[in-house]
Order: sequence, then C-alpha cells, then structure tokens
Amino acid sequence: MGANLVEYEPVIGLEVHAQLETRSKIFCGCSTTFGEQPNTQTCPVCTGQPGSLPVVNRKTVEFAIKLGLATSCRIAPFCLFARKNYFYPDLPKGYQISMYEYPLAEEGFIEIVVNGQKKRIQIIRIHMEEDAGKLKHGETPETESFSYVDFNRTGVPLVEIVSGPDIRSPEEAGDYLRKLRGILQYLEICTGDMEKGTFRCDANVSIRPKGQKEFGTRTELKNMNSFRHVEKALEYEIKRQIAVAEDGKDVVQETRLWDVDQGVTISMRGKEEAHDYRYFPDPDLVPLRIDEKWIEEIRKSLPELPDEKKERFIRQYEIPEYDAEILTSTKAMATYYEECVRLFPEPKTVSNWMMGDLLRELKRNEREIDQCPVNPQHLVEMLEMIKEGTISGKIAKDLLGEMYRTGERPGKIVRDKGWVQIVDEGEIEKAIEKAMEGNPKQVEDYRKGKEKLFGFFVGEVMKQTKGKANPKLVNELLKKKLKG
Ligand SMILES: [Zn+2]
Repeated sequence: MGANLVEYEPVIGLEVHAQLETRSKIFCGCSTTFGEQPNTQTCPVCTGQPGSLPVVNRKTVEFAIKLGLATSCRIAPFCLFARKNYFYPDLPKGYQISMYEYPLAEEGFIEIVVNGQKKRIQIIRIHMEEDAGKLKHGETPETESFSYVDFNRTGVPLVEIVSGPDIRSPEEAGDYLRKLRGILQYLEICTGDMEKGTFRCDANVSIRPKGQKEFGTRTELKNMNSFRHVEKALEYEIKRQIAVAEDGKDVVQETRLWDVDQGVTISMRGKEEAHDYRYFPDPDLVPLRIDEKWIEEIRKSLPELPDEKKERFIRQYEIPEYDAEILTSTKAMATYYEECVRLFPEPKTVSNWMMGDLLRELKRNEREIDQCPVNPQHLVEMLEMIKEGTISGKIAKDLLGEMYRTGERPGKIVRDKGWVQIVDEGEIEKAIEKAMEGNPKQVEDYRKGKEKLFGFFVGEVMKQTKGKANPKLVNELLKKKLKG
C-alpha cells in the first residue's frame, strides 16, 4: 500500500423507468388508476389472451416525445416496437412490448452542476414500453407458500431513459436523478414517486484506475427505491469493487440487489445480455411514423423547464446560481418560493430561510416541499415579524422549528410561548445592571481596556432575557453602561 496505491474512479450509467400518467394503458383501454382491487383493471389485451391485438395509445407517444424534447433528444421520424422475450409469472404474454433497434428518441442530455461547473450527462436513448404485473408473496401464515399475481399494472406505459456512462460519483447520480425527475414533474407526465415505484432506477457501475480509458467490468444494481438508497448502494458497490480489485481479483459481471436493512449489495444472478431476450419487431404493431408538424406542436406546448426557470430566477430575483438551482429543482419548490416572494418581496431573504432551516427540516424527515407543514403564508408572516423587530433572528430559528412541528401560525406560537422580542429600554437596562453586578471583576477589567469582554456581557444579558432582548438595543445600552 502507500506508494503504489492505485486511485480508482467510478463509472456510472443509469437506466430509469418512469411511469407515464396517462389515464389508460399503453396498448388497451384499461384504467391505470393505482391501488384498485387486484385484477379489476385488465382485459384480453393486457393479459395476453390469444387473438387479442394491441393498439398504441397516442397520449403515451405524445408524453414520450415531450420528454425527448425536454432533454434535447432527436425525435426519431420512425420507430418500432419490439418484443423482449423472457419468462416470469408477472408477464402474461411471455414477452414485454418494448423498443430495441428503433427507439423514440436519441442523443440528448441533461445538465447538472458539479463543483460549480455545468456538466452534461448524455441521454443515449428514450423508448416506450409496457410495465409488467406485480407479484405478491403470501403475506399471512395461511398463504405464506403462495404467490399472487396482480395484472392491474400490466400494460401501464413506461418510458425508459438510458444515460451515458458519464456519471463519476454517487452524488452526481443523485443530482442527475433529481434533475430528471424534476423535468418529468414539470412536464406533468410522471409523479416521480420512487417509493410508489412510478420512478425506478437501475445503475450500471464499474471502476477503473484514474486515467485509464477502457471501462472495467460492470455490475448492475437493482432494488433502490429512494434517492438516498441509490447514493448509498453506489457508495457501497464502488467500495466493494475497489476491494476486489485491490485483492488482485476480477469484478464479476452480474446483477446485484441492494439490501436496505443490511446496507450491502447482494449477488442476484449473472447479467443478461441483449441476445438473451431474443428481441424482434412486434408483428402486431405497425411502425410509428412521427409527423414533424406534431413534434413542433408539442415543442410549442412545453412549459418552462427547470433550467429555463433557473436562469429566470437568477435574472429576475438576483439570487446566486446555487440558490436558483436548488429552488427550481422541483416544480413544487419553485412555486413555493415564488409565492413567498410575491408576498414578501425580498428574494434573497426568502431564499436563505428556505434553503437553510426549512430544507434542513424537510431533509431530516425525508419530506418534499409539498408535504411541508409550514405554508408560504406562515413563512412570510414569520419574516415580517423579524423585519418589524417583533422577534429576533435567533428566536425565529426556534420559531420555524416549532411551526414545522405544529403547523401553527407563527403569531400564535410567539404569543403562547412569550417569545416576543424585548424592545423596552428599561427592561434591557435592568438585565444589564444585573449582569454587571454579578461580574464586578469583568467590569473592572473591561474599564481597564480589556474590550474583548464586551461579547461576554452581551452573552450574559441574553442569558438574563432568554435570548429575547433586541440585539441592537443591547449593544447600544451596554456600551453606555459599561463606560460608567
Ligand atoms: Zn387491458
């Protein structure tokens, strides 16, 4: 070790499956509503009955084109559905209808910010496919040896988004995923809910000595159902591969599952190659020819996307790029911010409170801003109380925590807790006198020129007033009193 230690870099590519929010399935008219009774949303097409024929849902194609345009992809004028053959009980036809040689969109990119620099992550392809059903394994003692199949999800439309091998760290992977999810949500074509499985991610990971061009052998990671899990699984897997390499062994190409409870990845099976799936064009579906005019229509209908919104925030609100990046990361966050600024036109103050204390609380509870117990009106009310001097900035920090926990209006909490700032000079003077009487030695030293002690007295006065004294008044009055 030591001198001949090799430095490795990870190479990561991500495959994301996003469920499109169409009302009906991709090849039949069945409803896509989530959480209905098992097998109530099925028909001969999505359960693969002989003689039934699929017909493509126009809305699915429109949504997929939207995503292609929003990620700067080239939309193929011609694309083709293909059968991906494999056996699994949740797949009634014995094949999944997907796309292979002729995907819908190719050669796009998504921009993330790495160390203050913009970095492009290539999008190799975006294609449409149908989701499989869902297996439920016996949940009660009586049914423990059974597995059940729910076909409600079979045929729900998906887009698969394949990134280039451009990602170099778990954090970059997280940033890319958040950006992609943001785009899907801005477009209103996917809820992006990882826990409910409407936004799923598999990762291809390998390592190579820094400076080497060739890729190492990769493993594929599955079963990560939150952003945190993706980052943790990648961290673990990179360390594991480095340990294998340093042991002088070879990384085995395989699929590995992320085990949430143990925090490790576990070998599941050898990785399939494309030829294992025996892809071929689906003879039941006609090739799609996508009209240039339709693409232009869709392009015109695109909403303001995260990057555009970010640039506008920088211009309009004069906030730093870092703030703007975070505040536009989800549509809900951007809406929250703009609502606050509309009510309290001090954009940087709003940004500071949102990005600091509010996001910290949300992160701790793994909540999104649309589940935040503090609404924009309440946050603004608190900002106004600081501005008017009703409360100090220090109290405001405790107040925001309390607002978050209780969902109460700040005015009510401040009244109930007696947190109103002390601006009464007499009261502050009393606290100062007490602080001086209690510390005669320090008073003497201060008067002899040890001016550093000023901070000590401020602290004492704040202690006396439980942090409620107006700091400006404390400073003014303390200076006078200490002079004697
Ligand atoms: Zn159906």
